[in-house]
Amino acid sequence: IANITTIPLLNIPNLIQIGYQLMDHIASDLTRNVNNVSNYVIITDTQLAPLYLSTLYKLIQSHLKLNQRLLTRILPCGEQSKSRNTKAQIEDFLLNQKCTRDTCLIALGGGVIGDLVGFVASTFMRGVPFVQIPTTLLAMVDSSIGGKTAIDTAHGKNLIGTFWQPKRIYMNLSFLETLPKREIANGMAEVIKTFAISNEPEFIKLENGKNQIESAILGFSDQSDATKLDADRSMLMSVVSACAAYKAYIVTEDEKEDGLRGLLNFGHSIGHAYEAHLSPEWLHGECVSLGLIHEAELSYYLGHCSSNVISRLKKCLQLYDLPIKFDEKSKHRLGLAQVMDTMKVDKKNKGDQKRIVLLKKVGSALDNKPTDVSDVAIEHVLSK
Ligand code: ADP
Ligand code: ZN
Repeated sequence: IANITTIPLLNIPNLIQIGYQLMDHIASDLTRNVNNVSNYVIITDTQLAPLYLSTLYKLIQSHLKLNQRLLTRILPCGEQSKSRNTKAQIEDFLLNQKCTRDTCLIALGGGVIGDLVGFVASTFMRGVPFVQIPTTLLAMVDSSIGGKTAIDTAHGKNLIGTFWQPKRIYMNLSFLETLPKREIANGMAEVIKTFAISNEPEFIKLENGKNQIESAILGFSDQSDATKLDADRSMLMSVVSACAAYKAYIVTEDEKEDGLRGLLNFGHSIGHAYEAHLSPEWLHGECVSLGLIHEAELSYYLGHCSSNVISRLKKCLQLYDLPIKFDEKSKHRLGLAQVMDTMKVDKKNKGDQKRIVLLKKVGSALDNKPTDVSDVAIEHVLSK
């Protein structure tokens, strides 16, 4: 039987469950835990459906009671699915299928599927239960935890949404075997961010453990040495668990982001502004990588940390295949004035005052909350 790590969230024990080869476990735990419903609906995308849908479908099917139905819905993959249109299509599907309040939605996918399905769950029949089965590293360590749901509009990403907590979050690390390398790096940016603000020993594990983490993600590529694979896997599991546990702790303390949760925005005040100009060519984690470096530089410039913090952060990001500088073409798309202008619409700002998480050292953020920073200081760092 799989070795499972469980993490409480919002004072609910076992809400997050992490392990390898979890499919059997997911099907039985899910049907036992969310059992007073007539319909389960798995929602996934065209990339994931051929890989994992039929296995999950059969396993859940085998646990159903006589009066229960299992439905599936497959969406096009990509950020375009996080739209009002797709939300309406799912709702029409559920209504056509005569789904009512006693329906449990199952989000099988990355952040796109998780954010969208969570939003649908929060408004369908004024709210139905849902569970998260994140399949990307980014969704595991970040977006599946915390109950933020959202869709995008032409005015920007995640501008419409709700807070709606899943009943369970299952992190099956075996899913990472099929995840493209660039998507692994995308998730590593959030892992590096998390340990940079919270946990130096875990950050050191990242600095030293690249090969182990990589081979654990690739899975059975080195079958010759089962003991080594086991060790590598527990290493990856401890990293993902520590990261998820920190996010779960923050969300439990500050569910609606009135204070402490703002810490998780390290690298994102500047990173989001880059993303607004470079997306979709640049992924979220790639923009955050540059955001982390520039916000660390800002911390150094304002006298809060040593320059060593910047170099360790850069080295670690580079180690996990993240960009640490812009190519010429991207630089052209990032005028200082435009970036400063985009930063004005950050949800964390108080009026005109920009607020940014600064670092004191590797593993700890200044004051445990975002700090007021002047435009002059930001402009100085960004124009270097
Ligand atoms: P994120 O979690 O970074 O927001 P997305 O939801 O945008 O990621 O997913 C990124 C892409 O990776 C999508 O095209 C999705 O179908 C694909 N994908 C997600 N999980 C896996 C996986 N485990 N194996 C292969 N492809 C995956
Ligand atoms: Zn992020």
